[in-house]
Order: sequence, then C-alpha cells, then structure tokens
Amino acid sequence: MDTSDYILSLADRCVKCGLCLPQCPTYALTENENESPRGRIALIQGWLTGQLTPSKTLTNHLDQCLLCRRCERICPSVVPYGEIIDQAKALLQVKKPAHFSLQKIITNISLKTLLNKNGSVVLISVLRLFQKTGILFLAQKSQLLKLIGLHRLVETLPQLEKTFKPKSFYPALTQEIRGAVSLFTGCLSNQLDAKTVKASIHLLNRFGYDVHVPGQQVCCGALHLHEGDKQQAVNFANKNIKIINQTKNISTIISLVNGCTSQLREYQSLGTLESFIPEVKDIIEFLCEIPWPSNLELKAMTKPVALQIPCSLQNSLRAEEKLMTLLQRIPDIKLPPNAIYNRCCGAAGAYFIRFPHISDQLKNQALDNLEQSSPELIISSNLGCALQLKAGLTRRNHDIDVIHPVLLLEQQLKV
Ligand code: SF4
Ligand code: SF4
Repeated sequence: MDTSDYILSLADRCVKCGLCLPQCPTYALTENENESPRGRIALIQGWLTGQLTPSKTLTNHLDQCLLCRRCERICPSVVPYGEIIDQAKALLQVKKPAHFSLQKIITNISLKTLLNKNGSVVLISVLRLFQKTGILFLAQKSQLLKLIGLHRLVETLPQLEKTFKPKSFYPALTQEIRGAVSLFTGCLSNQLDAKTVKASIHLLNRFGYDVHVPGQQVCCGALHLHEGDKQQAVNFANKNIKIINQTKNISTIISLVNGCTSQLREYQSLGTLESFIPEVKDIIEFLCEIPWPSNLELKAMTKPVALQIPCSLQNSLRAEEKLMTLLQRIPDIKLPPNAIYNRCCGAAGAYFIRFPHISDQLKNQALDNLEQSSPELIISSNLGCALQLKAGLTRRNHDIDVIHPVLLLEQQLKV
C-alpha cells in the first residue's frame, strides 16, 4: 500500500459524526469547518482522491492544526488523527511547491539551530550575551526582530542561564540500589530549564536509582515530524535508539518533557530500524508508579497554585491522573477545579512562531482561566507550555513562576 492509500485507509475510519468539533481549539475560535478535525480529514481525503488540489489555502488549514490531539481522545471511531495529519503533512512537503519568504527562511534556520544540540549551545550563548548586554531588548523594541520573524522566539525565551552540561552518570544516593535508568532531557531542557533536569536527577538518585545521561542523545524529532520533515524525525529516532540501547542493564528511559515522551513512545510507527530495549516513561508516570521510600518526606505547600495540563500529557500519554496523584503527595496542596486548565495553551511546538495570532488567543484564554484562582505559582510539565505561559505572564506584568512538577516536588523535600 502506498502512503496515499495508507492515509486514506486511516481517514476512512472517520464517520463524520462531528463529536470532535466542540473539542477543537481552532474550530472554537473560527467556527470554520475547515479548521476542525472532521473538516481537515475531509480536506485530506479530497486531496488524496484528486478532487482538490493542495492549494495554499488547503495546506494552511492543515498547518493551523495544533496537533493537540484533543479530537483523537474523544473520537468514538478511534480515528488516529495525529498519525493522519503527520503523514499527510510529510506527503505534502514532498509534493507541494515551496513558498519562500525571508522571514520563513530565517525562522527555519533559527529553529533548526535550536533543535541541533551543538547549534543550540552556541545560539543560546550568543542570545544570553545579547540578553545581558541589553542588545536583545533594543532589537526587540526597534521592531528589527519582528521584521525578520524572530520576535516571538525571543519574547518566549526565559532569563538565560549558563547551559547545564550533565555528567554521563549519577549514582544512587541510597544504600540499596533499586535499578538504573537512562534520562532523556530533550534538546532544550539543559539550556532553558536546567533546574528541572538537576531536580530530576537528584530525585531519582534519592529514590535509589542510578541515572545515566547519554551524552550523544539528540532531539526527539517531534517538531520536525509535525512540520512535515518525516525523514529528519526518522534520522533522529534511529540515532536515539542506537545511543540509548548501548547502555546496558537499563530498566527505563525517563523523559522529562511530555511532548518528547510521546514522540519517543511512537518511534516504531515511523518505521525505525530498531526499537528501544528499555520501556519509555515520562518522569511523571515513573514517579507516580514506583513506591516512595518511607524516609522521603515533603513540606506542606503554603502558596496557592494553579495547574496547566499539557495536551501531550493529556491526549497522547493520557496520564493526567498520574500527575494529580503525584502532586497530591505534597501536604496541603490545593488544586480546586478552577485552578486546573487542560486546553491547548497555543505553544504547540513551533506553532507560536508560525501562527502568533491564533497562539496568542489561546495563550490568553489559558492565562485568564489560570489566573482566576490568583495563583502564586503555576505548574506545567511541558517545557514549551511553561515558556509560553511565562512569556504571557511577563507581558501582563505578573511575576508568577511557571515550573515543572518535578522541580516543585524536589523543592518540597524536607532534607
Ligand atoms: S474524527 Fe471521530 S469524532 Fe471526529 S467526525 Fe470523525 S469519527 Fe467523528
Ligand atoms: S489536533 Fe487539536 S487543533 Fe488539530 S484538529 Fe484535533 S482538536 Fe483541532
């Protein structure tokens, strides 16, 4: 079966019932059928059966999908929407005429550099210097960055610290060793969220696990896949599988970013050369499922907190209950229903750069909702969402931190 027929065979499972429509963030904003899951599936079917040409308008409707997979979760026909759109975008990338613009070229080069491990270290170092000297601020104010399409990226950067270069091995801090795990940090956590990486290693060591951090690991490839570059996603997948499988006696690959976990778990559907030997778990799942040492106590949470549940955790990993169970280990933590937000925040990989207008509306909806409970801290387990929310809060002049739940757990450790 060729790729077109394969995509059509998946799309044919859609019975056009429309139950997914109220779940779709882009449909909720536009009320346009072409911006809904059902509409996008129909567009793909029309294109692949020769009734529609892959025009700019058609590809735009597909590109404006956030890949949040909220539609997939509720679909009674179990339509694999995420796979359909990823496959269709990869095919379109091969077949559609390229539309060039200076902004697009600069954005693409910047993203590729950021998602390349060595490139991102250099780029982040330069940006850190520009941030410290105020050059970045001036460039942002002068509209120069807007002109070249980089203002969104720069606006979303946190205060940049020195890049964390993890060692390859961190031994357990307990007498009894419970096992060995491999840590998948993602391509940007060491640069943009080093505190969470360090907290994860420390917690796992305190739980009795030896932690390996394979130095040669590369980007998980999710962003490339969602942008239609399937070949690069496959290349990254093959490399990660080869590198991580080299460390022996590992029980689990632990991933720190929900979006990366989801991608690592779906490597096989990309047609990789091999598979991971250890199982893949998000750190949320892992810490929820293992028994906690009896001597590990947490301090009570005195601040009001709010929780953003990332789409990748909810709709792909389907592990939001595990996150709740984990957070409820913190004494006195209060998470009333209106302090929990589980819709797309508009970050969605590179979406916030590509479609800032839609992304901003979703970000503001998320912040309006989260701020209702007057939190002093917001918890988010996906780096992209955390950066998106923090940028929005800064723009609103609200000094509220957005942190990963594992960092919160580690901060609450009694000793
Ligand atoms: S994707 Fe699923 S829920 Fe949506 S219209 Fe098709 S069958 Fe119905
Ligand atoms: S993945 Fe999200 S944005 Fe895309 S069609 Fe489904 S619900 Fe809508």
